[in-house]
Amino acid sequence: MPIVPEAPRPRWAGRAGRLGLALGLLAVAGAACAPEEGTPGESATTAEAPAAGLDVEAIAAVAARSLEVDHVPVNADTLLDHLGARVSALASGDSAQAWVQRRLEAYGLPEVWLEPFRLLGWDRNEAELSVVRPAEVGSEVDLRILSLGHVGSYEVEAPIVDAGYGTAEEVEALGDQVEGAIVLADVGSPEGYGRGVHRTEKVTLATRAGAVGFIQLNTAEGPLIPVGVATLGDEPTQIPAVAADRATGEALRRLLGEHGEVLVDLRVDNWMERTEAANVLAEIPGRSDEVILVGAHLDSWDLAQGAVDNGSGSLAVLEVARGLAEHVRETGETPWRTIRFAFWMGEELGLYGSRYHVDVRQADGRLDRYAATLNLDVVGEPTGLGAMGRPEAQPFLERVLEGVTQAGLVLEPEMGWGGGIYSDHQPFLMQGIPVLSVRSRQRPEASGVSHTTADNRDVIDEPGIARAAAVSAALLWAAANEPELSMERWAEDEIGPALEALGVRDPLERAGEWRWP
Ligand SMILES: [Zn+2]
Repeated sequence: MPIVPEAPRPRWAGRAGRLGLALGLLAVAGAACAPEEGTPGESATTAEAPAAGLDVEAIAAVAARSLEVDHVPVNADTLLDHLGARVSALASGDSAQAWVQRRLEAYGLPEVWLEPFRLLGWDRNEAELSVVRPAEVGSEVDLRILSLGHVGSYEVEAPIVDAGYGTAEEVEALGDQVEGAIVLADVGSPEGYGRGVHRTEKVTLATRAGAVGFIQLNTAEGPLIPVGVATLGDEPTQIPAVAADRATGEALRRLLGEHGEVLVDLRVDNWMERTEAANVLAEIPGRSDEVILVGAHLDSWDLAQGAVDNGSGSLAVLEVARGLAEHVRETGETPWRTIRFAFWMGEELGLYGSRYHVDVRQADGRLDRYAATLNLDVVGEPTGLGAMGRPEAQPFLERVLEGVTQAGLVLEPEMGWGGGIYSDHQPFLMQGIPVLSVRSRQRPEASGVSHTTADNRDVIDEPGIARAAAVSAALLWAAANEPELSMERWAEDEIGPALEALGVRDPLERAGEWRWP
């Protein structure tokens, strides 16, 4: 059963509350509406900016208020234990969207709405791998595989070829052996390679080299098979792409070593369709038309509860929303900038929800309103603050650090200026919008469980998530009330060099997303 709303409507929810409810109903009915155009009112832009940002005590007060109550466990009861896996565009994802929407309304967020978007939906049926030749070994080996996402239905019989980690250099070194073969590639990248190589990049490289199949091999001991989407674009793969556990990889390589040539039969059968999912959005209206956004992807893979990835981040953003709504209710304060909460769907299939959100606003000019964003994807005990490629944020972040420290939270003094891609901050980063970060650490038990059958509630750090939420609430409230955040949106010609400095040029080029010289 969903949790019954227990939070009273906030004082300021008279008009906005009814509007939010009405729009929420419209959104449920499928209308692509958003209340933000009418919020917080036409005259808002004329409001006077605050003379100074929040002092340390005010920041500490927000963190302390968030820590007073902890709804992470009770929300985890529903989100993880009751709802479980949350796959975009399937019944499980739709139920999660509806529950989060109700929960935000129960917390008294004055605006809650759905943002529908189109995506290539996907669901797993079957996947099977068997050795055809040498025929005598066929029954001896136990091959365990799972399909990757955005793979349709295929059956191929082909030789396997070992591409190591499946990097560009390794695939190239194999020459024409890849043509017509099924490529084996370990998870990760070679020692000293300098960067991680995403599975989508490997599938693309193998496909371009003429492979007819792709098998990702786990490198961690044990039976886990990490899955994930095989393409980052909006198209299905052109070849069957699957994942296997470590023992399967070792068996296939042993056979290759012993027999020189190994012919396998790879069969996958999946459901795929152009369909619809929806981001769940909510906000605390500010006095200006600028926006600070905090988001987490609500969708997960189908194999487990999606507790680490990204139940943890979803629980954190819910907790931030609860804490800040309560702060506004208790103090009667209104932030200078609107604070928007986003629960993205479609992340696991290729950042669909956040891309859509950014694309429509980039097209109509509303993206300029975003003064900063924070993405919470895989959250545990908070360890530090940062801003991707933006050391100029240091003085502001130091004040936040001092505030949360005063509230009893312990973070590293060093700020992080690095940043990667492949999560929902990517569409914002690629438009030059400032991306803040709250770094956190997982329990050792959570290592390697993402995208596997082991991503369940028993490995997450619920008290850590609550503390990360308190840090995030303080950071967002401070950012929403800081007159000069000293982080300007990068101009189009500044974005490329900034991304290059973050070390993400190569993967973006390979994904066909690099638009700078
Ligand atoms: Zn994630």
